[in-house]
Amino acid sequence: MTETPADRPPRRRKPLRPVEVVSVSRLAPRLVSVLVRGDALDGFRIEAPTGHVKVFLPADGQDDPAVRTYTPVRFDEASKTLELQFVLHGTGPASEWAERAGPGDKLEVAGPGGRFVLDETATHWWLAADESAIPAVATLLEALPATATADVHIEVADADDDALHLAAVAVTLAIAAHLAQALRGGHLLFGRDRAFRG
Ligand SMILES: Cc1cc2nc3c(=O)[nH]c(=O)nc-3n(C[C@H](O)[C@H](O)[C@H](O)COP(=O)(O)OP(=O)(O)OC[C@H]3O[C@@H](n4cnc5c(N)ncnc54)[C@H](O)[C@@H]3O)c2cc1C
Repeated sequence: MTETPADRPPRRRKPLRPVEVVSVSRLAPRLVSVLVRGDALDGFRIEAPTGHVKVFLPADGQDDPAVRTYTPVRFDEASKTLELQFVLHGTGPASEWAERAGPGDKLEVAGPGGRFVLDETATHWWLAADESAIPAVATLLEALPATATADVHIEVADADDDALHLAAVAVTLAIAAHLAQALRGGHLLFGRDRAFRG
């Protein structure tokens, strides 16, 4: 029997969690790490890599917030602090918000969600992503068993743009350093000019 939309149970909306920006740092020219904190993050857990949250951000000239999808990179239960990383791609409420975000800014987060199940038996991974998936790739690399190896391909918006290329390389090398143990024996490939670790 084919299930119709009317047969499906209504999707339960995840509650909105009001949070406040506690710090902002540039990981690369076009990648901003934003730490948000709030008691409403009580019970938040990142159970699997490549999850997502909805962020509700004030948008210029709009009554309603802009709702966008971002990757929860790290969550510290003790301080109820969540890290999100925003790629600055230019126009767009979320990118523009991140570009000027500062401590005290308020937003809401809903989630996390995601159904990714890590296959712990996979010995080698081949990952391809665009810039906006760099945070998701980082969460996946971090979760890999220490014996797994990975090839990571990051597509940058303009391979001739040094700043852009550097952004991808800088972040991915940071990930590689952080994951040196996990990646031992493996190698990473980045963008057009390829940076190797192996
Ligand atoms: C599961 C999931 C997880 C994600 N995690 C992250 C994350 O952790 N960090 C992150 O930065 N992004 C992430 N994204 C992508 C992010 O949701 C989009 O880039 C989002 O559209 C940005 O919103 P905006 O308001 O800045 O731009 P929008 O208002 O959505 O778009 C404005 C214009 O910018 C263009 N645009 C939107 N995004 C990009 C982009 N990345 N590069 C180039 N042009 C773009 C659009 O095509 C449009 O022309 C994720 C997406 C998904 C589905």
